[in-house]
Amino acid sequence: MKKIAILGSTGSIGTQALELLSESNDYIVDYLYANSNYKLLYQQIKSTEPKFACINCEDSYNKLKEINNTNTEIICGLNNSLDFIKSRKVDLSLNAIVGISGLKPTLHIIASGTKFLALANKESLVMAGEIVTEIAHKNGVKILPVDSEHSAIWQCLTGENDLDISRIILTASGGPFRALDKKDFKSITVKDALNHPNWDMGNKITIDSATMMNKGFEVIETKWLFGLSEDRIDILVHPQSIIHSMVEFNDTSIKAQLGFPDMKIPINYALHYPKHKKLNLKPLNLDLIGQLTFEKPDLNKFQCIQLAYNAMESGGTSTSILNIANDLSVELFLNKKIKFTQIPKLIELCITKHHYISKPNIDDIFEQIDWVKNYINKNTFI
Ligand code: NDP
Ligand code: MG
Repeated sequence: MKKIAILGSTGSIGTQALELLSESNDYIVDYLYANSNYKLLYQQIKSTEPKFACINCEDSYNKLKEINNTNTEIICGLNNSLDFIKSRKVDLSLNAIVGISGLKPTLHIIASGTKFLALANKESLVMAGEIVTEIAHKNGVKILPVDSEHSAIWQCLTGENDLDISRIILTASGGPFRALDKKDFKSITVKDALNHPNWDMGNKITIDSATMMNKGFEVIETKWLFGLSEDRIDILVHPQSIIHSMVEFNDTSIKAQLGFPDMKIPINYALHYPKHKKLNLKPLNLDLIGQLTFEKPDLNKFQCIQLAYNAMESGGTSTSILNIANDLSVELFLNKKIKFTQIPKLIELCITKHHYISKPNIDDIFEQIDWVKNYINKNTFI
């Protein structure tokens, strides 16, 4: 049986992946990794019986050690966990850690001899897409998309020749504020922004969907996963979230992938690729949905999309700063320290003021994290 590792097992993607694994006999869970939620991690340890489990937070580790009466060996702390990940070869690793914390685990997975990485952590590619894809290529690691749009593109491209692609059309729901007037953005609350119309996800990506930075990130993710420049990646708002993305070919024909807005579908595909393993979902009845509609994204209202395109164009450290500044701004917004409308402003400020490096190495990228933290701390209340 194949061995799988689930990083970020206690999150929205991680828990759905474990639910899918519990319905199949294709994998045994080799290890799980979480940050601090030791209670849920312990339930997962009991149900999946992994050989190992890693947890970052020392306090949570101590509590987990106290209650653990399984044979699972528990590893404590970030550095020990990273060393462990690098030394442990499995058949498939799913990286479902949220935010910038996902990059180091990605780098350690692709150095471990593991041949398939199912990557939900899009931030790894936004921060260091060139470095991650180069190392993966060199080490013979195949990166399997988990994001629904990229899973759709991947499926549309099966059996196709890359030279025949004209452009990629990434669909976007438009989030909860698609129809809200820009002048009302200043009064958006955390509760409003967490209320996504179609998708049920972790808090950080839900805010990214509300600002539409998520779509900007996905353009960058598309560039690195499928090797296309940004001028060939368009965004199309499609509020029903039934078409998950499309590929247009040179003869103008377009292929699309359709499905419910349910992350289990792309997770299942990444787990069982190239099979479409049966899922216990009702069939998608398009006659009940009735209408599929499309509109252009409003870049004036959703400035984060424009910031992402600009960062992509200038390249180098701009996209890492985009990602780091977004992570920290979203955290400040979730903690009610800044307003929704300050998110793009802070990100733009960080990109403008940072020390730009055109060809950063991985240390340059990690050094930016402290710079952005300091800069944001000093400039949050201006
Ligand atoms: P959640 O916030 O629901 O879960 C995050 C997970 O990451 C938790 O298991 C958390 O552990 C763990 N984690 C956080 N920080 C660390 C760390 N420093 N080290 C190790 N583990 C850590 O996130 P989501 O599941 O929503 O998102 C995960 C990733 O998938 C993101 O990159 C997101 O963009 C992407 N994605 C998510 C989608 C979704 O539907 N949710 C859709 C498409 C992409 P703990 O619980 O202990 O804090
Ligand atoms: Mg997506």
